[in-house]
Amino acid sequence: MNTPIITIMLLVSLGIGLVGLVVFLWGLRNGQFDDAHKITHGALFDSIEDLNLANAIAQNQQATPNPKHKESKMEHYTIAVIGAGPGGISASVEATLKGLSVILLEKGAEHNATLRKFYKDGKRVDRDYKGDKVELVGAIDFSDTNKEGALAMFDSLLEKHAINVAYNNDVESIQRQANGSLLIRTSGNHSISADYAIITIGKMGQPNKPSYKIPPAILRQVNYNASSIQAGERLLIVGGGNSAVEYAIDLCASHDTTLNYRRTEFARINDTNKQELEKVIASGTLKTKLGVDIESLEEQGGKICAHFSDGSSDVFDRAIYAIGGSSPVDFLKKCNIELDSNNLPIVNEHLQTSVQGVFIAGDIGFKSGASVAMAIAQAEKIVSHIAGHK
Ligand SMILES: Cc1cc2nc3c(=O)[nH]c(=O)nc-3n(C[C@H](O)[C@H](O)[C@H](O)COP(=O)(O)OP(=O)(O)OC[C@H]3O[C@@H](n4cnc5c(N)ncnc54)[C@H](O)[C@@H]3O)c2cc1C
Repeated sequence: MNTPIITIMLLVSLGIGLVGLVVFLWGLRNGQFDDAHKITHGALFDSIEDLNLANAIAQNQQATPNPKHKESKMEHYTIAVIGAGPGGISASVEATLKGLSVILLEKGAEHNATLRKFYKDGKRVDRDYKGDKVELVGAIDFSDTNKEGALAMFDSLLEKHAINVAYNNDVESIQRQANGSLLIRTSGNHSISADYAIITIGKMGQPNKPSYKIPPAILRQVNYNASSIQAGERLLIVGGGNSAVEYAIDLCASHDTTLNYRRTEFARINDTNKQELEKVIASGTLKTKLGVDIESLEEQGGKICAHFSDGSSDVFDRAIYAIGGSSPVDFLKKCNIELDSNNLPIVNEHLQTSVQGVFIAGDIGFKSGASVAMAIAQAEKIVSHIAGHK
C-alpha cells in the first residue's frame, strides 16, 4: 500500500477517535451516565425508591429523610398521607410547607379519582358546597370553579410544591410497630414507615369484583370481607395478595377452607405471610386450588358451586373475594380504628383516631360526605397539630 493512502487512513482513524472522545466527555458532563439524572429526565418510576430519588433531586434535597431512623432500610417519613384527593393533596402541601417529610400514596394512576370519575365534564364546583361555609386558614386558596379548574389547581399544587406522590399504591393496612412508628403496606407489597398517617380515602372506594356474573340466589354468600362467616361453613377464599392469604391462614384454623389463586406462586405477599402460608399448606390445614381460575359460579341446593378452568367443580357455603380494593369501612377496620354505631371513625378534637398518630380528614369522616373545602380545612388542621408536636 502506498504511503499517502496509509497517511489518509491514519488521519481518518484519528479523527473518528477524537469525535468519540468529545462525545464521551460531553455525555459525562451532561449526566448521561448518571442514574439520578436519567430519572429526572424521563425514566419510568417503577419503584418508590426511584420516585423519591427523582423528587429529592428536583427539590435539591436528600430523599428518605428522618434522621431518627437512619439505620432502618425501610423508607421513613414523618407523615404518610393515604389518598390523593383534595384532603390528601392539601395535607401533603401543608406538611411540605412546614418542612415535614411526607409521602402521598394514591391507589390510582392519577390524583383525584372521585372528581375524575363522579363529576361530569364542566361540572360547577361550589366552594360553599350545599351552602356550608368553611373557613380556610392554610396555604390553599380554593374558590368557585369547575371540574377542570379544580383538577388544574391540584395539578399545579403538586407540581409547585414537588409533592412526593406514589401512584398505583393501594394502601392495604396501617399497623403500629414495636419501635413505635407506623408500618404502611400497599397492595404491591411495598412497605414504608411513618411517625403519623393521615387517611383521606374518601367514601367512594369499592372492593374489586369478579368479571363473571354472580347468580342472585347466592349473592349473599359471595362476600368481600370476612364479617358474615358462620361457624361450620365450608369456605372458598379467592385471591393471591396479602388480604386473601391472611384470610385463608386465619380461617383455616376454624373452618374447612380452600384458597384459590389463578397463579401458582404468591409473588405479592410479605415474608411473614409466605412462611405462615407454607406451614398451613404443608400441614394440610389449608386446601388449595392454585394455577386455575374460576370460570363461573352456580347455585346448587342453596350453596355455591364453583366451576374451575381445569374442568373441576366444588361446592362451598361461602366465598370471599379478596382481589384488590376495599370499602372505606373495611379499610378502617383493618387498621384497627374504632368506629361508632354509624361505622364512622371515632376521632378526638384533633381528628386523631383511636390509633395513636393516625388521623382522618375529608369525606371518610362524614356520614354522607363533606366538601372539597372541608377536606382542605381538616387537612390543614391535622398538619398544624402534628407540626406543633414535632
Ligand atoms: C357528584 C359529586 C359532586 C360533588 N360536587 C361538589 C362541589 O361542587 N363542591 C364541593 O366542595 N364538593 C363536591 N363534592 C364532594 C367532594 O367531591 C368531596 O367532598 C371531596 O372529593 C372529598 O375529598 P377527600 O380528599 O376526602 O376524598 P376523595 O376526593 O374521595 O379522594 C380520595 C382519594 O383516595 C384514593 N384512595 C382511596 N382508597 C385508597 C387506598 N386504600 N390507598 C390509596 N389511595 C386510596 C382515591 O383513589 C382518591 O383519589 C361532590 C361529590 C360528588 C360525588
